[in-house]
Amino acid sequence: PADRLSQFSESVIRGMTRLANSCGAINLSQGFPDFDPPEEVLCALEQATRGPYHQYAVTWGAPRFRQALAQKITRNTGLEVDPDQHLVVTCGSTEAMMVAMMTACNPGDKVIVFSPFYENYAADAILSGAEPIYVTLNAPDFGYLRDELVAAFEQKPKAIIVCNPSNPTGKVFTREELSEILDLATQHDAYVITDEPYEHIVYEPHVHTYACSLPGAFERVITCNSLSKTYSITGWRLGYVLASPEVIAQARKVHDFLTVGAAAPLQEAAVAGLELPDSYYEELQALYARKKELFLSYLRRTGLPFTEPQGAYYVMVDISSLGFPNDTEAAKWFARELGVAGVPGSSFFREPEHRFIRFHFAKKEETLIAAGERLLRLA
Ligand code: GLN
Repeated sequence: PADRLSQFSESVIRGMTRLANSCGAINLSQGFPDFDPPEEVLCALEQATRGPYHQYAVTWGAPRFRQALAQKITRNTGLEVDPDQHLVVTCGSTEAMMVAMMTACNPGDKVIVFSPFYENYAADAILSGAEPIYVTLNAPDFGYLRDELVAAFEQKPKAIIVCNPSNPTGKVFTREELSEILDLATQHDAYVITDEPYEHIVYEPHVHTYACSLPGAFERVITCNSLSKTYSITGWRLGYVLASPEVIAQARKVHDFLTVGAAAPLQEAAVAGLELPDSYYEELQALYARKKELFLSYLRRTGLPFTEPQGAYYVMVDISSLGFPNDTEAAKWFARELGVAGVPGSSFFREPEHRFIRFHFAKKEETLIAAGERLLRLA
């Protein structure tokens, strides 16, 4: 097999789901809900299965889906989005990120990644022949040092990846930070590739800023996004790339030869989600705020330190006081003995960092209570 494959391992996140399933643990590792999508979306799915949607959709996305998507993005960002020029529909943001990287980078190009980072980014960089260079997000608020970012840009990267709200730290980048990143990217002629699946899961007083909506940003920002988290449909694998027509023309080619297209009946059904009123997103936000409070209230009682997330639905818990040799051993013990699975934090860091386990709280109240009660054995 190719040498580049020895540079990264299988996904630890997906591996933990398999471990959780095999030992019957409550799975707070891979982030996905245990509750259903909105009723409107479920009904639309039933109808779509009887419709004429069983063959390939247009490779860059079914027209009705792109139309609805463009309207929703316009509502959120104020940008005029042309469904025929600015969008490629992909199999989740996972494919969108791969498409963005392969569109932006030549082999040998450097890409800035904030660390800790969602584990796909390093693999995406390596698979597209690029070399990740890292800039640290520093606990507790996960800000970066401007000097470190400037030094990274001086290495002439082709792109910078910004996960906002950020997985695994829960950081929500401020408008000022995004403007600074954009200015540096403009100075050094680099793309800003954003990954924003948690756009609607943000906790007050924090607010989500779309990097692509900042003044002058649209030509430079390649936005990757997903419907997975917003409509609780992680298994549908629906995402998209939003960018300038020049970038999209190239991204369509990458996407076409990688996958041909996302599932046609699911694109059709997901239109019902995209057409939900603003109140849906307000309720989603409130729902996740309650889940966060519930889960964090248990964590506080364990006495283990953690940083409260500003957005997304993950929390990094410092387990160093428990005396395990490392986080991987700790995560196995948590899954097998305590019955709660999380992800060893080391899979999100460039340097050896074994203090954390990442848990997610995208679960029903009863699941979070059951997991919380198990975690209290640590108190
Ligand atoms: N984003 C989710 C997580 O970090 C999982 C995404 C995936 O497995 N594709 O757990």
